[in-house]
Amino acid sequence: MSQILSAPVEIDEQGIASPCQIILSPNTDSRPENMGVDMIVVHNISLPPSQFGGPGIIQLFTNQLDAAEHPYYATIAHLKVSSHFLIRRDGQLIQFVSCNQRAWHAGVSSWQGRERCNDFSIGIELEGSDDCAFNDAQYLTLQALIDALKKRYPIQHIVGHSEIAPGRKTDPGPFFDWQRITKPS
Ligand SMILES: [Zn+2]
Repeated sequence: MSQILSAPVEIDEQGIASPCQIILSPNTDSRPENMGVDMIVVHNISLPPSQFGGPGIIQLFTNQLDAAEHPYYATIAHLKVSSHFLIRRDGQLIQFVSCNQRAWHAGVSSWQGRERCNDFSIGIELEGSDDCAFNDAQYLTLQALIDALKKRYPIQHIVGHSEIAPGRKTDPGPFFDWQRITKPS
């Protein structure tokens, strides 16, 4: 396991990462023509909220969440959402959407005058919440992924979901330590 976590990540020409578990989401479409990828959006998610390790996130991103299983699921099971990546609490990396495709993670959003951040961004979900710290293994995987993405795409901005959807979103939350990743300045 530690070998997998310490291995560098690579993104191939098809926008697929390795080493990485691939679970393709139907919630994706093409980026606008001639739209480059220059942003990474960092999120947190846990399903049920603040519970870790279950299948809920994968079920949500593959439209298989059972609304009857948890009261919170009933409020979100109808959503068609996805993210390019999920980093589990143990650092495991899962990819749902090719980086060359648009994932549906940001929603209504804007950054420096540009709307619809899904068009030009890559979404990375950290399994976590606004109420607790992330694990070392998650930061290690996140940094390896950021390094890989920078090699494949001209990343200029690494932002939190809360920065591109202020007032609507709070993630990755106050426990995400920005000092632990290298941001483009
Ligand atoms: Zn988010």
